[in-house]
Amino acid sequence: MSTLFKLEKAKILSKSRIFDFLNLLKENFDSLIAPVRKGKYTVFSEIENVEDIVFEYTRTLLPPKKFILKYRRERFTYDAQTLEIEKQENLSKKQVIFGVHPCDLHGLTILDQIHLGEFPDPRYLEVRRNTVLIGLSCEPDEWCYCISTGTAFPDGANWDLFLTDIGDKYFVSIGSDKGDELVHLSDGLFEEVTEEDLNKFKEETAKKKHLFDYERLPDLERISQVIELEYESEVWKKEAERCLSCGTCTNTCPTCFCYTSVDIPSLDGKKVQRVEFITSCQYPYYSRVAGGHEFLEDRTARFRHRYYHKFVGYPYQIGKFGCVGCGRCSAFCPANISMVKTLKKLREGKKEKTNV
Ligand code: SF4
Ligand code: SF4
Repeated sequence: MSTLFKLEKAKILSKSRIFDFLNLLKENFDSLIAPVRKGKYTVFSEIENVEDIVFEYTRTLLPPKKFILKYRRERFTYDAQTLEIEKQENLSKKQVIFGVHPCDLHGLTILDQIHLGEFPDPRYLEVRRNTVLIGLSCEPDEWCYCISTGTAFPDGANWDLFLTDIGDKYFVSIGSDKGDELVHLSDGLFEEVTEEDLNKFKEETAKKKHLFDYERLPDLERISQVIELEYESEVWKKEAERCLSCGTCTNTCPTCFCYTSVDIPSLDGKKVQRVEFITSCQYPYYSRVAGGHEFLEDRTARFRHRYYHKFVGYPYQIGKFGCVGCGRCSAFCPANISMVKTLKKLREGKKEKTNV
């Protein structure tokens, strides 16, 4: 889907030409999606007017996955008598998502690995093929810990262009053939990289590392082992006592993808619509199976499960954490539960008992 970042293919885009570039994207795609302000939040939204786009933001309420794995998908409608499928979901819309931060690009790489692995999901593949990703550099706030999860920079992810703010210009890295085509399409807007631009790019990239408060970052070394060894820890129960099982943490997470599906009959009973929607492992009854057994029997089990999946399950499955350190689950949790603090408490408990 993409080639690796090639420095020799980088270009410069002056900030004074950014709206020309965005308007060109709008003309050439069915849909331009970018961050905009909505009340006190920043959200990814379809753009009517490019001047509404927000360039400096820390995190959006929902990650850009909402345009790849929609939260509600009307998959198809079938005839209730013949079971013949009559109407399929249209996945052919060509979309460009602009302004995606590195953590969310890594989140999409994880979703790609999950959905396009051994048994590729053809619907996911079609949406991804029709999507262009344009990343944007950012600065962390107190909730971000992407520097700990190795996702603070866009290295090798599945993006097409990545814009790094270098003052009055963007340093544009080209990550794929699709990105290359976009630059050619925008002939005249992009300039060649000068030595001064390159130095500024290096400076800005290096600067990001120093913007984190290292005192409050989680120590993720051997965290899978710590979590596994602390399966019976009281920390799970104590933290879960505050949890409201609202599912905000999973719904806002760029790597959570669990969904459920229902068949909805029409009022006359002749047609049935198959609808999938995102669900959450934090909801009661999430793990209930036929016969009534629940694999995650209570709130503590559900709470612990999320940490296990992110830091034990994903490493087994795809060789890396399922957390990209975006901070959403903690920043938006109505019970003020912080993933970083929970991990610290687990590790502290472990130190007392086993000195690891
Ligand atoms: S957002 Fe907070 S309160 Fe809601 S389910 Fe997640 S941990 Fe629990
Ligand atoms: S677990 Fe929390 S911090 Fe990690 S990627 Fe998901 S929402 Fe972001």
